[in-house]
Amino acid sequence: MRIAAFGGAYANPYALRAMLEDARARGCERILNLGDLGGFGAECDAVWPLLEEFGVESIAGNYDIAIGRGDEDCGCGYSSERDNEFAQLMYDHTRAATSAGFAGWMSGLPGELREEIEGVDVHAVHGSPLAVNDFLWESLDEEELGLRVRESGADVLLCTHTGIPWQRRIEGTLVVNVGAVGRPANEGRCETSYAVLDLQDGLTHAELVPVSYDWRAQAASMRAAGLPEAFVETIETGWWTTCLEVVPPRERARGRYQVYRDAVPGGFAAGDGAGWAEAPPYEDRGRPVVSMFGTEAFPARLWIYSNFHCNLACGYCVVASSPRARRREIPAERFRALVDEALEEGFRELYVTGGEPFVHPQIIEMIEYASDRLPTVVLTNAMLFTGRRARELERLAGRERLVLQSSVDGARPETHDRWRGAGSWARAMEGIRFARELGLPLRVAMTETPENRAEVSQLAGLLAGLGIEGADFAVRPLVQRGFAAGVEHGIEVSEGVMAPELTVTADGVHWHPVGADLESSPDFLVARGQVPLAEAKRAVIERFLELRLEDGTLPAAFRCAV
Ligand code: SF4
Repeated sequence: MRIAAFGGAYANPYALRAMLEDARARGCERILNLGDLGGFGAECDAVWPLLEEFGVESIAGNYDIAIGRGDEDCGCGYSSERDNEFAQLMYDHTRAATSAGFAGWMSGLPGELREEIEGVDVHAVHGSPLAVNDFLWESLDEEELGLRVRESGADVLLCTHTGIPWQRRIEGTLVVNVGAVGRPANEGRCETSYAVLDLQDGLTHAELVPVSYDWRAQAASMRAAGLPEAFVETIETGWWTTCLEVVPPRERARGRYQVYRDAVPGGFAAGDGAGWAEAPPYEDRGRPVVSMFGTEAFPARLWIYSNFHCNLACGYCVVASSPRARRREIPAERFRALVDEALEEGFRELYVTGGEPFVHPQIIEMIEYASDRLPTVVLTNAMLFTGRRARELERLAGRERLVLQSSVDGARPETHDRWRGAGSWARAMEGIRFARELGLPLRVAMTETPENRAEVSQLAGLLAGLGIEGADFAVRPLVQRGFAAGVEHGIEVSEGVMAPELTVTADGVHWHPVGADLESSPDFLVARGQVPLAEAKRAVIERFLELRLEDGTLPAAFRCAV
């Protein structure tokens, strides 16, 4: 026997009709509705005749129970004031647009369906076997999934409440979350979904079927009813724009929006110091949520380690670079592909670092390629601007979007050389002067040590004489990573206290440039190998959300009260 199962019709008669017709065209003999008939769209009563016309068998969702019971609100209890406003508006609309007859019909719906069909024990619920408002996410851990499956013990368990479709066999039970037919699944596509099951001789096969429908009509109907624009946007774009706190990190990271605008975590202990850029302003279209990428919590700044070897071996080098360091070069071809990808993925600036980038044989053409396309900062110790490299550096003069960033750790050679090697202060100052004479924009950072702490204003004056002043001079803390692991006076860093800045090396993708050396900072590795930047961003966002939920800086999930 072939059966169709859908849920979350959400007052979307356009999608529901398209789905029901599709199910009939596929030869489905029975059609099961797993609940939530209203709650997002405008035309609540319009779904009722469709259920009758197509002979749909229904169970109740949490929204149906609340409407059937005549509750005053949906009881969701969001932590965002804006979400509460939207939820109330939506609930009030649903109550007003649902006839007494339809509400009464909802109040008589059973809470679940359990039946043996063609030798298969089928259990249909709205949320999970635990509760009508329980979320059966794909990302639940094995123990949580097992708990729900054992509670049922059926051969096939059907559910809908999360609105995101998936299927998987768990402990012998085929679990099918049919998604929602009335709202797209936060994947950037307007199609919605339902499931088709083939049951025969005790065997089951399930297919998750996309529903193409007239989403423009649904959007127009919602607008005409004065429903929140944030909800209409979901219908038009396929991305969820409200009520995200209930969504677990893995599913939330896949969407376009992750956090409430007013709940973007900030104030990280070691979040700045490496770059100069201000966090871009939030894009406000009246929606309550923002993409985490692009906020101060995850700046749109890409770091690329062109290589790891260096002419120096500074005592506080966070990535343990030296002339003997494993080279880990990124070839020019891969670098260009990364720059192209960075543009596509919305990165707004690029930092090229190492090791010393100017020992990379192709660095000049790499910098040219990058700074033709993105504001580019190249970190250098400025000590190699002689001979052939000096001539090559001239090619970079006059590039508007290129800045060099160098390090000087004191106003006197003694303080600088103590950490960076004899003679390095003089050569760095010479290199900086040379770059300035070429007209190259330069910034200088001083890494603060007990030896140079008293020289900050003296160094600032020295650099001002070379035209490097104001925001182009910064003092950064010494970080306990790489060669400086365990060093006194250094700050400790971890994913927990640092805002992520996506960093690519030849080894993979890392949380932040100060932890980009796989050997000394394995904890900062996000993914190994050549990972697409879109994938890397998703992995960082998922980890960030996990950390924030652990430390309580993001609101925890609620359960809609029933
Ligand atoms: S701190 Fe910079 S200059 Fe010093 S060893 Fe590391 S990469 Fe080279």
